[in-house]
Amino acid sequence: MQATLSRSQAFGRATLALLGLLLTALLLGIATGLAGRVLTILGFYEVLAALVLSVAAVAYAHMLRWRPRAGALVLALAASATWLVAHRLTDAWGFRAEQAQMVLRESHELAEDFLVSGADTPLQLVDLGLNAETGADGVRGALLVEWDSGQLVLRALGLERRLPPLPWLQAVLLSATLAFLTVLIRRALLHLAAEPTCAVCGRYLQRQRLGRVTPEEAARATQAWAHGEPLEPTVSATLAGPELLRETCSAGHTAQPGLALVQYRGHSLGSGGASLVARRPAISG
Ligand SMILES: [Zn+2]
Repeated sequence: MQATLSRSQAFGRATLALLGLLLTALLLGIATGLAGRVLTILGFYEVLAALVLSVAAVAYAHMLRWRPRAGALVLALAASATWLVAHRLTDAWGFRAEQAQMVLRESHELAEDFLVSGADTPLQLVDLGLNAETGADGVRGALLVEWDSGQLVLRALGLERRLPPLPWLQAVLLSATLAFLTVLIRRALLHLAAEPTCAVCGRYLQRQRLGRVTPEEAARATQAWAHGEPLEPTVSATLAGPELLRETCSAGHTAQPGLALVQYRGHSLGSGGASLVARRPAISG
């Protein structure tokens, strides 16, 4: 029976979790960047990304039987930065492509521009324009044009509303976004540290809700468990007390299931909505 992972095993699992989460963040950033070309409300995609990446981080940790400790911050920061960069780059790429389409639609009026500039394709003409405006072409030029126009607040039906183009304001908003995502993803990962795992195989224990118990029954069970008595509290139709959960290993390594009394709180982002009242640890076998 091997309960704890070796250092290299734990490192390997952390690396796999990192790769999976970064890939998820990259794909999500491309998807929200494309969606954002059509509809953007400041804060919407940021909150969406925080939720999706928190859930994904927890799912990878469960799948890989990885228990995040110090690595949680690195993982959260890397995922947040990847999403943010992918989202912004996709948006800039979309902006440049839309400009090229506009050139194509108005190619009759722009015939002289093509002649004078020597550009062969609409994209070349757009790049010349970006270069004249920012000193850079391609996606980088598009990114600079967007930065110089100020933080986007609303984009819908082809209309845009932006905050005044103040570099410090944009830097503050960018840092705040990165911090918001990192804190939420890290919080979701750190909640995993409190989840029980199987002493035999390291899997996170599966939890099954049995029902609520009254506060008096919860206090009785907490007392008994503190003294090592294996009392099973009785569930009832109460609305006030904590929830009783049964915890077992899905690979069947549980001789006696664990029991946990958990108090759920309303409105909480990510997976942080529950606090443990008391636990009777599972006995492996
Ligand atoms: Zn197990």
